[in-house]
Formats: sequence, C-alpha cells, structure tokens
Amino acid sequence: MTIGIWVLGDQLSLNQSALAQRRSQAADTPVLLIESLNHVQARPYHRQKLVLVWSAMRHFADTLRQQQWPVTYETAPDFQTPLVQWIQAHNLREVWVMAPSDRPFQELLETLDLPCELKIWPNNHFLWSEEDFRTWATGRKRLLMEDFYREGRKRFGILMTGDQPAGGQWNFDKDNRKPPKQGLQPPAPLWFEPDAITQEVLEQVRTLTADSVSAYGHLEPFRWAVTRDQALEVLQDFVEHRLPNFGTYQDAMVTGQDTLWHGLLSPYLNLGLLDPREVIAAVETAYQQRNLALNHVEGFIRQVMGWREYMRGLYRFLGADYADSNWFGHRATLPEFFWTGKTDLNCLRQTLDQVARTGYAHHIQRLMILGNFALIAGLDPQAVEQWFHAVFIDAYDWVMQTNVLGMGLFADGGRLASKPYAASANYVGRMSDYCGQCTYNAKARTGQGACPFNFFYWDFLLRHREKLASQGRMSLILGNLKRMDEAEAQEIQSLAQAWRDRHAPESKS
Ligand code: FAD
Repeated sequence: MTIGIWVLGDQLSLNQSALAQRRSQAADTPVLLIESLNHVQARPYHRQKLVLVWSAMRHFADTLRQQQWPVTYETAPDFQTPLVQWIQAHNLREVWVMAPSDRPFQELLETLDLPCELKIWPNNHFLWSEEDFRTWATGRKRLLMEDFYREGRKRFGILMTGDQPAGGQWNFDKDNRKPPKQGLQPPAPLWFEPDAITQEVLEQVRTLTADSVSAYGHLEPFRWAVTRDQALEVLQDFVEHRLPNFGTYQDAMVTGQDTLWHGLLSPYLNLGLLDPREVIAAVETAYQQRNLALNHVEGFIRQVMGWREYMRGLYRFLGADYADSNWFGHRATLPEFFWTGKTDLNCLRQTLDQVARTGYAHHIQRLMILGNFALIAGLDPQAVEQWFHAVFIDAYDWVMQTNVLGMGLFADGGRLASKPYAASANYVGRMSDYCGQCTYNAKARTGQGACPFNFFYWDFLLRHREKLASQGRMSLILGNLKRMDEAEAQEIQSLAQAWRDRHAPESKS
C-alpha cells in the first residue's frame, strides 16, 4: 500500500478526482479525513456549519468504509501531525488530494512538510475546469456572466434545441421576480431529524463553543441533510414541489417564510454531497417530462450553471489580490448588530434573526438587505466579507470573495457586476413585507424616522458621484442628484454620518 488519499471536508463525493482514480484499488488505498480544531478557530463559524461539515465528514467516512476503503478519521489540532503519522503508519510513497476550491487551503498544502510526495488532482466539483474558464476569460474586454452562461449552455448542451436556446430565448427574467402578495403559501422545505452521529457532533460543538471555540448562531434545531442520500432527497423534493414555481417569487422576501421556493441546495453542492451536473440534469429532465414552465427551469439553471460556475471561475481567474479590493475606499467598522441581531431596522432584524437560527438566507436577502446595507453605509468590505464567511452555512472562500466583494459591495470597481446593487427602502418596500412592520418611515429620506436605507442610499450617491459617473448604467440615477437641493443633500449626509458615528464609531477614516 503506497498511495493514500486525503479527503478534504468539502470534497465528500465518491466521484471526486483523487478517489475516482483509485476506485478499482479501494481496499489497498488508505484514506484520511481530518477535523482540525485550529482550522475552526481561525475565524468564528455558525454553530450549525460546524455540525454540518463534521457530521457530513463522519457519515462520508462510513460510506467509504462500506465501499472497502480503509479509512482513518482524526480529530486533531492541526493537519500536519495526523497526516505525518498516517503516512508513516501506512508507509506511504504518495499522498493524493483533490485540489482545494479555496485558495487559503491551497496555500496551506504548500506549507506542509511531509515525508512523501503530495500529488494534487484537478478539482472536478464544477462543470468548468479552471483552465477552460481561463481560456474563455483571457483577452475579453468584459467578463459578462450572460456571455459565460450562454457559452456554458451551448458547451454542455443544456436547455438547447439544436444550436438555439429552448423556447427561443436565453433569459425569462421578465416573467420572474414578482413582488410578494398576501397569503403566499410556499411548500414546506424538507428537513431531517439528527441521527446518532449528528447528535454526537451536536454535543461536541456545544461543548467546544461553550469553551474554547468562538462561534455564531443557534446550534439547534439542526435540521440540515448530512448524507448524500438525504441531499438527494432534498433535490428530489425541490424538483417535485418548488421548481414548478421557482422563478415567480425568486426575489420576494416575506416575514416568517425563510425559504420560499428556493432550492436550499448550496450547503450540499458546496460540500460535494451533490454534483452540479446531476442537479442541472434533474431539473432539465423534470422540464422535459413534466412540461414545466421554462421561466422557472431556466431561472434555476441560470443560478447553478451561470452564477455558481461564473463566481468560482472568476475567483480562480482574478487572483489573490481580489481579496483586498476596496474601490470606494469604504472604512466604517461593522456595527455590532450584525452579530447580535439587535437593530430597530425590521428588514435587517428579520434577516439577521433568520441567519442566526438557520445559517441560511436566500439570495435577495443576502444581496439587497445585508450586502446593500453594507455597501451604502460604507462598511469596510473585508470586515463584511469576514462576517458573511462566519455566519452562513454554505460559506467558503471561493464563493464569498466574488459574491460579497464583487456582487454585494462593488469593491472590485465593476470587474464582476455592471453596476452596484445599491437601493433605497423603495426596493425593500416593493419586494418584501418588512417595511410595513418597521418603526422607520420607508418613504422619508430626511427628518425624524427617515429610513436609514434612504439616507444612506443618497449619501452613497453623493459621496461617490464622480466615481460612479464612470459606470454607464448609473447615469440615469445620478441624474436625480441634480434635482436635489443643497440643504437636503447636507441633511442626508449629516444623518448618515451621525448614524455611522453611533453604530460604527471606530471607523478607520
Ligand atoms: P437557490 O435560489 O435555490 O439557487 C440555486 C443554486 O444556485 C444555489 O444553491 C447556488 O448553488 C447557486 N447560486 C445562485 N446564485 C449564486 C451565486 N451568486 N454564487 C454561487 N452560487 C449561486 N452562495 C453560496 O453557496 N455560499 C455563500 O456563502 C454565498 N454567499 C453569498 C453572499 C452574497 C452577498 C451574495 C449576494 C450571494 C451569496 N451566495 C452564496 C449566492 C446565493 O445567494 C446562494 O448560493 C443561495 O442563496 C443559496 O440558497 P439556495 O440553495 O436556496 O439557492
């Protein structure tokens, strides 16, 4: 036995490239999984994320054992010590690992001092390889998601009729994204009761986070899937019950409805429990067999084949400096309520409460409530990115950087998005029922009770009008500033500054 495989915590698939290479010699290939305590102390995590990852790893170790792989499962402070012991115990000549998705982990691999060779296999958890994305992106003037998505549809033959898009259109957004209406009744999501392994991990996380490991959010109720079989059930449940209406209320936000018609698939896709190809295939098959409306099906496939692949491709393509992006020079510190949830802004309170309870919020809550607020309030992008990474159940470096810094905060100056996703309370009021139950006045941008989303939005435009003028899609909005009188502009700016002074007093500038 000279080759061993180290399976990382987000590579929990029997088809991952290192395992796939040795499938026929499974019984002769030792496999190692490591829960590293130092790793989870590098930043706080949502308690349920710790449970999800560790429980899914332990279940995956059992799956491997059932398939005859000799598995060693270690809980240790660091990675190096158990790795070296395992290499020596099995007298290994080579350790194989699938390339990590996250750059910091790739860097960690480079610092390991091992008594044998470390061979890295290409990561096959995405449709696009890193090289193919690079080839697509190199030399392009603009890296537009829409161009990338269409290329993917053609390349992988998804929702195509010959060389034309199914239904004659690439995009059905105009049929989607309706504001919520009274009495919406989305189907309940599929949740699971913790089994014995998960119960054990729950106890471990309870003890650790009461003691040495700082963490965020509620530990229980923990109801996430922790095995591939359960994740497949979630996929099936989504395709059966929520896909048929996925698009219509994709952007709606409703108090007490955490999930609406969303898939709840990102935690499983990002761990390797589901493969994006099988998710896309299940949705396309349902479209063909059940005559589902194309706006829902295309809207969903755009998320997985388009946005997910594009975000990961860009993360690898744009390089390590991207993490330091701060185009607007925003420096305000993160207000404490991001951690405690204690704020009188109802939209933020509802969303933060949900994230603390579940580790989950859907895309528009992330983008237009949390990200938008952080953008227009001028919060430090790196602090915001760290916060997102800490509190979400599906957060990983590869998906955080481009989503938070690029899409949410426009900190990259438009390498990813064609304009900042900045909006006032007008948007929140239209797309949610939050404003109706808020103490602030969503219609006012100045005066007593004016909604901070309003004065921050206009303050953001005022502060950055010169920079924003370079963004073609902003000219119409910037035109509105010309109609604002000087006294109102000053009041907006002093309301914004006073709020920042109260909530983020230690700002860096
Ligand atoms: P659905 O609405 O059902 O969408 C289906 C799938 O599409 C998702 O499961 C996801 O895999 C994929 N997807 C859609 N949009 C994106 C996107 N922009 N980037 C990557 N995948 C996408 N996604 C994460 O997986 N982890 C994160 O930590 C994360 N943080 C985000 C932070 C911000 C500020 C923003 C704007 C977006 C973030 N996203 C993140 C993307 C997206 O919001 C989530 O993937 C989605 O909300 C997950 O819920 P769902 O599975 O119910 O999604």
